[in-house]
Amino acid sequence: MLHVNGKRIKGAILDMDGVLWRHTDPLCDIPQLFKTFTDNQVKVMMATNNGLHTVDEHIEKFRLFNTKIEPWQIMTSAIATAALLKKHFPNEGPVYIAGEAALIKTLEEFGFHHSEKDAQAVVAGLTKKFTYETIKNTSLAIQKGLPFYFTNPDPTYPSPEGNIPGAGTLLAAIEAASGVKAILAGKPLPFSFEVGMKRLKTKPDETVVVGDRLTTDILGGQEAGCFTALVLSGVSTISDYEAWEPKPNLLLENISELFNQ
Ligand SMILES: [Mg+2]
Repeated sequence: MLHVNGKRIKGAILDMDGVLWRHTDPLCDIPQLFKTFTDNQVKVMMATNNGLHTVDEHIEKFRLFNTKIEPWQIMTSAIATAALLKKHFPNEGPVYIAGEAALIKTLEEFGFHHSEKDAQAVVAGLTKKFTYETIKNTSLAIQKGLPFYFTNPDPTYPSPEGNIPGAGTLLAAIEAASGVKAILAGKPLPFSFEVGMKRLKTKPDETVVVGDRLTTDILGGQEAGCFTALVLSGVSTISDYEAWEPKPNLLLENISELFNQ
C-alpha cells in the first residue's frame, strides 16, 4: 500500500508532461507504473493544463506507451473550464468561444455552443489561430459585461524548439485589451483537483498530486488540501524546490520512486 505522512493513499492525480513523458520520450516504465498503482489499490487520473487535445487524443497517446486508460481518467483544462461554467450556468446555452476544436467540442459536451449574438459568457483558451481579431472580438464582448473564462494561465509550454507561447500569453493580451481579469479553472486553481477527487471518490487526505511544476501542479494540489509530490524530471529544479514554501510532501527524482520512498 502507498502511504504519505502515515496516511493511506487511495487516489493519485498526475500531471503528464515532465512526469510520465517529455514530448514522445517516456520518463519511466509507464505500463509498470500503472500496474503498480493497480496492485496498491490506488485509482489514478491525469490532470493537464494542455487544452489543445481531446480526451480521445490523450487516450491514444497512452496507447502508444502500451497503457490503456479510460476517458474518466483524463481531466484537461478545457474540461475543468466547462465544468466550472456548468456550475455557474446550469441551464447551459450560448457562449462566445475563442479556442481550438478541443475546447469547442468539450464545451458542446457540457451543453454549451458558440454564439456571438446571445452569448452569456466569453470562454477562451490557447489557439494557434490567435490573431488581432481574436483579441478585438473577445475584449469587446467582455467590455459589454460578459463574464470572462479562460482555461489556464501557463505563460509558456515546453516544445522541442524551447519554451513557446502558452495559454497565459494569449490570456495576458485579452486581459490587457479588456481590462478584466479572467476566471480560471485549470491548475493552479484547486477546482480541477476537486473535480478529479469527485471522479476518484477520494478525500484530499487520501489523494496525492504528482507534478513537475511548483507553480501549477504543486500549488494547485496544496490549495486543494491534497498531499503533493514534486518530481525533478521536468520543469522545476532542486533550487526552485528549496525556495518554495510550504514544501511538497515528497521530493522525487522520478515518479517511479513514488512506491519506494
Ligand atoms: Mg508538467
